[in-house]
Amino acid sequence: MSDFDFDLFVIGAGSGGVRASRIAAGHGARVAVAEEHRVGGTCVIRGCVPKKLLVYGSHFAEDLEDARRFGWNITARSFDWVTLRDNVLAEVDRLNGLYQTTLDNNRVTTLHGHAQIIDAHTVEVDGTRHSAKTILIASGARPYIPELPGAEHGITSNEVFHLPELPKRMVIAGAGYIATEFAGVFHEFGSDVTLINRSETILRGWEPALADRLLQISIAKGLNFKLNCRLERVEKLDDGSLRIHFTDGKTLDTDVLMWALGRVPNIEGLGLDAAGVMLDSKGAIAVDTENRTNVPSIFAVGDVTDRVQLTPVAIREGHSFADSQFGGKPWRVDYTAIPSAVFSNPPLGSVGLTEAQARDAHGEVRVFTSDFRPMRNVLAGRNERALYKLIVDASTDKVVGAHMIGPDAPEILQAVAIAVKAGLTKAQFDDTMALHPTMSEELVLMR
Ligand code: NDP
Repeated sequence: MSDFDFDLFVIGAGSGGVRASRIAAGHGARVAVAEEHRVGGTCVIRGCVPKKLLVYGSHFAEDLEDARRFGWNITARSFDWVTLRDNVLAEVDRLNGLYQTTLDNNRVTTLHGHAQIIDAHTVEVDGTRHSAKTILIASGARPYIPELPGAEHGITSNEVFHLPELPKRMVIAGAGYIATEFAGVFHEFGSDVTLINRSETILRGWEPALADRLLQISIAKGLNFKLNCRLERVEKLDDGSLRIHFTDGKTLDTDVLMWALGRVPNIEGLGLDAAGVMLDSKGAIAVDTENRTNVPSIFAVGDVTDRVQLTPVAIREGHSFADSQFGGKPWRVDYTAIPSAVFSNPPLGSVGLTEAQARDAHGEVRVFTSDFRPMRNVLAGRNERALYKLIVDASTDKVVGAHMIGPDAPEILQAVAIAVKAGLTKAQFDDTMALHPTMSEELVLMR
C-alpha cells in the first residue's frame, strides 16, 4: 500500500479532469477529484452543450419562415426565452448528474470545494489536507474581462444561459468563436445585436474568405458590426441599461453587454507558487509533451495549459495522462489536423491549414473552391451561399486544409477531417463518387 491517501488527486471535474479520473481509476488507481463549481465543467455546464442547444432553438426562427415556401401554413409563431432557457438548464442538470454517476461508478471520490496545492504531494480542500502520489491540475479557463471602468456591468458566457429575459438590445464585445455564435443565436431570438471588435475582422485566424462570407451574410440578416473600435468605459444608466463609451467619443446604449474576448487559465488560488509550478509566457501552466509540469509529481491538462482550448483536446490529454501514468501504456496526443467549428449562423467548419499557412509550409499550393447556393436555400428564397475551400499541397497532391461555411458545415467537416488527417490526396477525393443531391458532394466535385 502507498503512504498517500490517494494515488491521483485531480483538481477540476471538467472534460479533462473527469476523463483522467475515470481512466486512472479504471487502471486501479485510488482517485479523488475536487470541483468548486459543478461536475461537468465549462463544456457541459456553461459552454458547448447549452450553447449548441440554444443554436438549435434559434434556428427555428428561419426554419419556420422558410417553411412557408415549402407549403406549410404557420399562422402564429412566437418565442418564449424562459421556456427554452429552463429546458436547456434542465438538460444541463441531467448531464451534470450523469457525470457525477460516472465518477461514482468508477469509485472516484468527489470533493466539492476549492482545492489548493500545499506542496508537491498535498492538496487542501476547504481546510482538509489530502496527500497524493500524483496531482493533476485540470482547472480550465474562464472568460477574460477587460480592465475598464464599468466592465463589471457586462456579463460573460457563464451568465448568458441564465438571463432573466430576452434583451431587446445586446452588444457582444469580441468577434471570435463565442461572440459570433451568440450573436447568431440572439439575433434569431429577436434581439437587436451589435458585435464590437478591436480589429477590422471577425474570426481572425480562420480562412479569411469564410470569415468574410459570415460577415456579409450576418449583415444581410440584420446584425450590426462595429469593428476597429476601442472601448473606454461602461456606464450604467438610471433605467438599468448600459452606455458603452468608445475612445473616439462615440457611445452605444444596450440592455446587455457580453464579454467574449478570449478565455484565461484558472490558476488563481491553486497554490502554484507554494508548489513551485511554473507558468509559460501566456500565464498558463507550462507542461511537457507528457503533460508534466516542472514539478515531477504535478501534471496539467486542458484549458489551464492553453494549448488548444477545445473540449475533445482536453479529453484526449486527460486520457493520455491517465493511460501513461497509471495504465502502463504511454501515448501522446497528436495535435495535427484538429477539426474545429463555429456554430454561427451559418456555421463554419475547418481542419488543417488555411491557404496562407499552407503557402508558408509547403510553398506551392493548389486551391479549389465551391461557391454555391444550397438547394434548400434556393427554394426558400434565401439568398445565402455556402463556400467550401480545399487547400492542396501541389508537390504531394495531399489535401492539407478543408474549410467550409454553410448549413451543417460542422457535421460534414468531421468526416472530411478523417480524410485530411489520413493524408488523402485530391485525386482520391475526385475518385470518390458524389452522393447526390447533397451539399457535401461539392467536396468531390471541385475541379
Ligand atoms: P476567441 O479567441 O475566439 O476570440 C477573441 C476575440 O476577442 C477576438 O475577436 C479578439 O480580437 C478579441 N480580443 C482578444 N483579446 C482582446 C483584448 N484584450 N481586448 C479587446 N479584444 C480582444 O475567444 P472566445 O472568447 O470567443 O473563445 C475562447 C476560446 O474558447 C476559443 O478560442 C475556442 O478555443 C474556445 N471555444 C470554442 C468553441 C467551439 O469549438 N465552437 C465555442 C466557444 C469557445 P481580434 O482577434 O480580432 O484581435
